[in-house]
Amino acid sequence: MNLIMLGPPGGGKGTYSSRISENYGIPHIAMGDILRREVNEGSDLGKKVEEYMEKGELAPDELVNEVAKKRLSEPDCEAGFILDGYPRTLTQAKALDKVTDTDLVINLEISEEVIIERLANRRICKECGAIYNLKSMPPEEEGVCDECGGELYQREDDKPKVIRKRLGEYRKQSEPLIDYYREKNLVEDIVAQEERPIEEMMEEIYAAIKKAKPNKGS
Ligand code: ADP
Ligand code: ZN
Repeated sequence: MNLIMLGPPGGGKGTYSSRISENYGIPHIAMGDILRREVNEGSDLGKKVEEYMEKGELAPDELVNEVAKKRLSEPDCEAGFILDGYPRTLTQAKALDKVTDTDLVINLEISEEVIIERLANRRICKECGAIYNLKSMPPEEEGVCDECGGELYQREDDKPKVIRKRLGEYRKQSEPLIDYYREKNLVEDIVAQEERPIEEMMEEIYAAIKKAKPNKGS
């Protein structure tokens, strides 16, 4: 099954996507992670997108469309995938439609206050990419990943000023996407309030997946 996860930065797309990926054995494709890796490696692509990412702006559509197309053509995507952070603009969504079809779009709804608080407290493992929250999901030992012992860091763009920029981009560029998919009847809204346990939301997400693709999935 081909899934898309939509929602504001800091809405938990990464967390829910990796759960779905484990549960259904499909790859979790996180555009931000792919681009950050390119930046860290100093590749040509990395050099082209670095500046946008630091400022909290979107990278150019042509570049990310190319990245997505290449990634989706890899053999592990044949049985499906969960896309996280792509598409983010209408142009990207239309490019995606040319490459593959979409079974379900999961739209996370969450308030901006919660997002800002969450992102400011987010820490990520340098080695394995595991995500922590200093308040709600702290590591056992400060600054160290529970999973692999790697060092935890704060993303440059998780600083408050850049967070506001990213939220603005989201409202402007990505909200029209939701309407685009709504017209195709593909959207399932999931309310992601802070008080809601992850497990409860996962149940709702799995139910939506079953409804979209009754014959597949567990
Ligand atoms: P978040 O969803 O928390 O904002 P991501 O890790 O998904 O973070 O993305 C970080 C940055 O990477 C974005 O602010 C943007 O600069 C760039 N980026 C990621 N995905 C895309 C995309 N589909 N189109 C353009 N730029 C992107
Ligand atoms: Zn780790």
